[in-house]
Amino acid sequence: MRSFLVAGNWKMHGDSAGIKQLLSDLLKSLPAEPGIDIAVFPPSVYVAQVAADMAATPVAVGAQNVCDQSGQGAFTGEVSAAMLGDVGCQYVIVGHSERRSLYGESSQVVAAKAKAVLAAGLVPVVCVGESDAERENGQTLDVISAQLAPVFSALSGEELKKIVVAYEPVWAIGTGKTASPEQAQEVHAFIRALFAKRDESTAAKLRILYGGSVKAANAATLFAQADIDGGLVGGASLDAKEFSAICRAAE
Ligand code: PEP
Repeated sequence: MRSFLVAGNWKMHGDSAGIKQLLSDLLKSLPAEPGIDIAVFPPSVYVAQVAADMAATPVAVGAQNVCDQSGQGAFTGEVSAAMLGDVGCQYVIVGHSERRSLYGESSQVVAAKAKAVLAAGLVPVVCVGESDAERENGQTLDVISAQLAPVFSALSGEELKKIVVAYEPVWAIGTGKTASPEQAQEVHAFIRALFAKRDESTAAKLRILYGGSVKAANAATLFAQADIDGGLVGGASLDAKEFSAICRAAE
């Protein structure tokens, strides 16, 4: 049985006061003991404070990005997975489409980041997804395969057991266009089958999140699909009521 995970990617939004308010509102609207895993992903400068503030709550904390190198060293501007773990972070998003498209992250770099996150004992949330044009051209499943191939090469069987995958069609991120439950389910089932080719039991336990304009109004039908195990939520995670309604839909 897979436990659901609802993850809120705040992207580059918020300030100290706004984040305190958002978390206080969120804690008031979430059940005291949600039957699912919940995590928020603040901008990196706020991760330590949010992790400290959320320590005794059901809300876990993640980072939106990480250095692909482990250890310490001359990597100006970078933050290591170990540093994130040191301040209480549990998850790290790797390969978000904005990082792939705006910052040129290749699938090889994404796989190296996932490896570094695992080495620090944290959980990578590996994002994959096709563009509008790739879907139009019937390339969706090939794109997903190609994005995951370096992950399969870089991670051991034991490491693959510990990751979370997020399917985020690029055309649905921040656009208000959501994949239909059937479109999402088709890709989720395909991803699970790719893992099953390596190991059936890893595939059966793998959590695959859907991301792309998830909101309270569409969460329940998406989460009812057999291979959807929660959501990676952008815009709607900045609204406590909306985000808690999505969490309740997953319960
Ligand atoms: C995201 O940023 O991962 C995302 C899915 O954004 P949104 O929910 O706003 O589409």
